[in-house]
Amino acid sequence: MERVNAWTTYKKREEKKVMDLGKAYRAFLDSGKTERECARETIRRAEKAGYVGLEKVEALKAGDRVYVNTMGKAVQLYIIGSEPLEKGLNIVGAHIDSPRMDLKQNPLYEDTDLAYLDTHYYGGIKKYQWVTLPLALHGVVAKKDGTVVDVVIGEDEEDPVVGISDLLIHLSATQMDKKASVVIEGEALDVIVGGKPQKDVEKEPVKAAILAILKEKYGMEEEDFLSAEIEVVPAGKSRDFGLDRSMIIGYGHDDRVCAYAEIEAMFRITDTPKYTCCCILADKEEIGSVGATGMRARYFENTVAEIMDKTGEYSELKLRRAMTNSRMLSCDVSAGYDPAYAGMFEKKNAAYLGKGVCFNKYTGSRGKSGSNDANAEFMGKLRAVMEAGKVVYQTAELGKVDQGGGGTIAYICALYGMNVIDSGVAVLSMHAPWEIISKADLYEAVKAYHAFLLNA
Ligand code: MN
Ligand code: MN
Repeated sequence: MERVNAWTTYKKREEKKVMDLGKAYRAFLDSGKTERECARETIRRAEKAGYVGLEKVEALKAGDRVYVNTMGKAVQLYIIGSEPLEKGLNIVGAHIDSPRMDLKQNPLYEDTDLAYLDTHYYGGIKKYQWVTLPLALHGVVAKKDGTVVDVVIGEDEEDPVVGISDLLIHLSATQMDKKASVVIEGEALDVIVGGKPQKDVEKEPVKAAILAILKEKYGMEEEDFLSAEIEVVPAGKSRDFGLDRSMIIGYGHDDRVCAYAEIEAMFRITDTPKYTCCCILADKEEIGSVGATGMRARYFENTVAEIMDKTGEYSELKLRRAMTNSRMLSCDVSAGYDPAYAGMFEKKNAAYLGKGVCFNKYTGSRGKSGSNDANAEFMGKLRAVMEAGKVVYQTAELGKVDQGGGGTIAYICALYGMNVIDSGVAVLSMHAPWEIISKADLYEAVKAYHAFLLNA
């Protein structure tokens, strides 16, 4: 049952492909640090690859490529297959939201000659990891007149960055005795944004100076924060990690590494596939797949209905058959085995960096609760598909039984009765500001998703 390390399988030419793919992925990661930016970058690439907005197409036929943009935060890509849609689609689905801090609706205040932006964190984070780091602000400000202004501060070399302070060690006797879950509390995640008072202002002069900058740069008033979505993320680009450059450290590998593997696999399909291929990039997974752009919204099902209509195949019954007969990889990251925390993993069933794409038959916690437990028959078929595609893969579950757990979008699509299994790339320091993956696992994920889309 020992799984091979993918790096040992590469000859020189293939190893170069692994490194080139890592470089291309880093560019994708750096160009999309929020779900909005990631969706926009995906659509830009899709249009370049010949995909057309579904709303612009009157009729669809086999071989056509279309995309759907859901509120700028979720994207679907489709390649119409030669078989009727009611025979099901081959689907790969990932999420493009990542843990971070969001500005509150009334965020700006001044305290003791410093200006702050108050936040509410998004997704599961260890709050103590987010202090004393250079942070950037990414997002949009929607004004009353309907205009939407993009904000990105802290990524350009010449840009200022912002950040959250921590107590100096010299005065930390009380703090150091606290539990890690409360050593930095949620309300303490306030971002310092200024420290220079405006000369002619009496009341809150530092805040006034910040407002003047926002007015000048973005034409925004303080009240415009009410209709803004500004995310606070680690500032700076991803980097090669390790002296051998075998890994990448970056913000938001969860789950943009699988998102990237999916779109790369889609773009590598040049012919007309047998079954319609579908790539879903969903939002809001980290907070339970809620909202109009989360996987629990009906945009996927509705899009399949639209596509069936445009291929002249639509009926309510055929739509239901299409959903039930589909096959899906729910593509999300796995917990990478960490030798420094060996006690939290069960070695026979852990995901190892470098051992290829990982399949999780089930996720969940405390007796598989909340999991999509994939069918053995489906896993059996996938083993054959992976072996035919010469994919290096491994299987795992998330840590030791009763140590914790997690969920993905798998269970939501399984509600339609389709076969779904979790599959993804192992990550070290998951949900930390800077996460680590192996380039070999990304490479094997692209191969796996490509083989799945064409042969499942
Ligand atoms: Mn995830
Ligand atoms: Mn996550």
